[in-house]
Amino acid sequence: MSMRSVLRHSPAVRAALRTSRSVPAVQTVLRAPQAGAARAASRTFTSSANRAEEYESPFGVNSLAKFSDEEEMLRETVRRFAENEVKPRVEAMDEAEKMDPAIIKGLFEQGLMAIETDPELGGAGCSFMSAIIVIEELAKIDPSVSVLCDVHNTLVNTVLRKYANEELRQKYMPKLSSGMLGSFCLSEPASGSDAFAMKTSVKKSDDGKHYIINGSKMWITNSAEAEFFIVFAQGDPSKGYKGISAFAVTKDMGVEIAKKERKLGIRASSTCTVNFDEVKVPVENLIGEEGKGYKIAIEILNEGRVGIGAQMVGLAQGAFDRGMKYTFEREQFGKPISKFQGMQFQIAQVATEIEAARNMVYNAARRKEEGRTFTKEAAMAKLFSSQVAQRAAGLAIEWAGGQGFTREQGIEKYWRDSKIGAIYEGTSNIQLNTIFNLTAKEKGF
Ligand SMILES: Cc1cc2nc3c(=O)[nH]c(=O)nc-3n(C[C@H](O)[C@H](O)[C@H](O)COP(=O)(O)OP(=O)(O)OC[C@H]3O[C@@H](n4cnc5c(N)ncnc54)[C@H](O)[C@@H]3O)c2cc1C
Repeated sequence: MSMRSVLRHSPAVRAALRTSRSVPAVQTVLRAPQAGAARAASRTFTSSANRAEEYESPFGVNSLAKFSDEEEMLRETVRRFAENEVKPRVEAMDEAEKMDPAIIKGLFEQGLMAIETDPELGGAGCSFMSAIIVIEELAKIDPSVSVLCDVHNTLVNTVLRKYANEELRQKYMPKLSSGMLGSFCLSEPASGSDAFAMKTSVKKSDDGKHYIINGSKMWITNSAEAEFFIVFAQGDPSKGYKGISAFAVTKDMGVEIAKKERKLGIRASSTCTVNFDEVKVPVENLIGEEGKGYKIAIEILNEGRVGIGAQMVGLAQGAFDRGMKYTFEREQFGKPISKFQGMQFQIAQVATEIEAARNMVYNAARRKEEGRTFTKEAAMAKLFSSQVAQRAAGLAIEWAGGQGFTREQGIEKYWRDSKIGAIYEGTSNIQLNTIFNLTAKEKGF
């Protein structure tokens, strides 16, 4: 039986694909036995199964717009969650500079906070592309909600999934799948782009049972609501970046959430300073080996950048959709402003740039799934999609004229939110450094 018909016969999947306002949880959809079979089949054929056989290439090469049934279902589920649950709260959350707890609860209930996590640990067991799809869809409606979900999935969960031992995974991943929000603590006041110049220190207690962490982390996303923290700390400055280790830390170990930043954009996403004052972490909470923290951070941020690329593509699309709609509704000189070629060319240009950025993000995601190198592609995808997001959101404001400039329309928020794409998880200059270095190496220089 083809995967498509397997899924078509699943009541849970049929329910998920119905256009009703009800939002079935991802786990409900994916835990249907038929969907499980489909998932297994999909994995044997790299990451993407064949949703629509009619689009199968006779040459065995698929386009980037080809998704597994599972990925398509997930997109539909998230789209409905974003539309029904997130959209009505966006303006109030932005004004209050606070995430509505109902959103976080909803994301967990929908299974969107453990997308790649093993089903035995409470996750959906989906592909990396599935996480990218979720981040993109959420960002179309609210980039703040998108980054909350992105950091929790692509940074926090992935660090544990890839580098923690079985005991540590069992200890925390079920909680991180069901309600415990996570943060990723790398940056500090004096070490941003130069992240491995960190001052946060770690040493072993005299009895050897604990690590003791001291220092301050800055700019930590999700930290106001988080109970779990991946923390990077320096154990031996004489070893440079090779002295850095990563730890699984919970709030009740003594983590202090300090100043909350007041920001230009993604205002509902919390960004705080996090202090560690003699925080005692059990030795078994070391992630991987001592001295491997820098490697974990570098590898994980490569993946994370694809996530930020997806956030920026979703943001650009959200702004574009609103701005374009306005041009068909607003009349000047006796006709809709979309009838003017000056408007049409701008709309066409932005549509083209979004398409290019999306393909770059999907390409980086698929390369990662296929186990190929993707560092350069991830850096290019993040760099370009953050530039496109700024252009798209800026032009969408202009397309809506004075209305675009008001807060009520919700278009200007996309532009404010877009600025962060060029800053976090490596600034645009840092992406350019990476792209230059890898390109020069490829060319033999
Ligand atoms: C809203 C928000 C959320 C964040 N979330 C997190 C989080 O969850 N966890 C976390 O660990 N961090 C987080 N960060 C931190 C973020 O990753 C850093 O802000 C970023 O890496 C830049 O560091 P910086 O702010 O110290 O800027 P700097 O490193 O001081 O950079 C300032 C300027 O100098 C340029 N520059 C620096 N070095 C070079 C160079 N070698 N070549 C050329 N130009 C250079 C930069 O491109 C930039 O334009 C967040 C930041 C923000 C604003």
